Amino acid sequence: MKKRVLALSVATIGLMVACASEGPSKSPVAGKASDPGRAVLAANDGWAAAEGGVTGGAAAKPEHDVTVTSRKALVDALALAGNAPKIIRIKGTINLSTDDAGRELTAKDYAVAPYNFDEYMKVYAPAVWNKTLVKGRPVRNLTGPQEEARKASVTRQREQVTIQLPSNTTLIGLGKDAKLVRGNIWIGAGVENVIIRNIAFEDAFDYFPAWDPGDSFKIDKSYPGCQENYVDAKAGPQLCPGGRWNSEYDSISINGGKRVWIDHCSFSDGARSDKLFPPVFPFPHNEITQKVQHHDGAVDVTNAADLVTISYSVFRDHDKTNLIGGSDSSKIDGGKLRVTFHHNWFENVGQRMPRVRFGKVHVYNNVYIGDATGSDDSKLSPYQNHVASLAIKSKITGNIFRQGLGIGKESAVYSEANVFEIANGSVAQAAGNMGGSVFFDAGTLFNGKVVDLLAAINEAGKPLSAEVGWKPTLYAAKPLPATEVAAHVKAQAGPGKL
Ligand code: CA
Ligand code: CA
Repeated sequence: MKKRVLALSVATIGLMVACASEGPSKSPVAGKASDPGRAVLAANDGWAAAEGGVTGGAAAKPEHDVTVTSRKALVDALALAGNAPKIIRIKGTINLSTDDAGRELTAKDYAVAPYNFDEYMKVYAPAVWNKTLVKGRPVRNLTGPQEEARKASVTRQREQVTIQLPSNTTLIGLGKDAKLVRGNIWIGAGVENVIIRNIAFEDAFDYFPAWDPGDSFKIDKSYPGCQENYVDAKAGPQLCPGGRWNSEYDSISINGGKRVWIDHCSFSDGARSDKLFPPVFPFPHNEITQKVQHHDGAVDVTNAADLVTISYSVFRDHDKTNLIGGSDSSKIDGGKLRVTFHHNWFENVGQRMPRVRFGKVHVYNNVYIGDATGSDDSKLSPYQNHVASLAIKSKITGNIFRQGLGIGKESAVYSEANVFEIANGSVAQAAGNMGGSVFFDAGTLFNGKVVDLLAAINEAGKPLSAEVGWKPTLYAAKPLPATEVAAHVKAQAGPGKL
């Protein structure tokens, strides 16, 4: 059914918007329109609105307003319109890991010989690979046929599951049950003006996670046998802690793109939670954080991406939700990575809500619900924490809430009126210093009490200054007091509520 909205004048559309928001409505919600596919970002709604606003595909011609039910139809619709305004409406569930006939593709379809997970683990096991250190770390650049075959397998999976969006796109779910699963939406450098709304994203699963033996590696002599030089099976660098499994895919990667609005979406690992993939190497490489991670971020914003608003979305059942800035050594991120998070609902997620480098990031009226049982106790050594966490491993049912906001290098995070409900958590876990120097917070509630977040994190680590050097001016509506945030966000965030 072709929409006739195009024929209406701008004034008429404005009237429709006004009518739609009348009645017994609660707080104003951006993007109300009789056809949500034609809605644009409201004026001043966060950083995405800073330079010309975001219209996505709102001006699409009828032939570029399409409903799709398969990966192939989605890819074809994007290719057909190119950079012209386009509205792609997702109907039902689209599995992005499928071939053109709609058959699901899994590890065996993508794997390139001789890749084999058991063999890969044997070759790069710390007891084998970590025996010699270079500059105090195991060699991080894995070599050999298993790693080569793993990378080739990744390339094949990526070609299928990563969908690149062009400029001037609205990707919107129809009704209450639109889902994009097992894939990655990519908004790359040069791409602008993108709207993604009303879609449940699930399980951006990487079949070929990489072991990085040097990630978080430490010569920590409190671990029995840990020392720099290899002696025998009982003494050497193979008994030092560290090493992580890493995966490729975020549900959405804003990797260089700008002017992006993500709204009323949800993000989760779905049925394939990381709990199903425990650590595989023996002590001391069996920390809870060393599970075989098959998911990366939910929405990551990196590589000089800029002007992003993420609103009324739900982040659930996932570990690392939002990385803003991928590296301290970036030469291109300064002045970029400006992102607003408002009215989002984080539940049962582990960390990075968001974790920020370089960007001026505004975080207001978000709700964080989690359980910190099993997270590190700052009074214990890493070894003591490791042993303690193994002892209670069976009691941990979800993602351990480790850290909400991560304040990284040259970041300037402005936080206001957020709400944390964290069982067995401490205020200092709401935000932590990850190499930053400034952080502003006001009006935050933690487990029902108004808290001084800055004072709490300064007590726990290297102090941060409250002088972030900027003050947000881009609000769609006046922020709610923290006491009203949880009910409002729970009622309105997520897909199916436009
Ligand atoms: Ca990663
Ligand atoms: Ca990522």
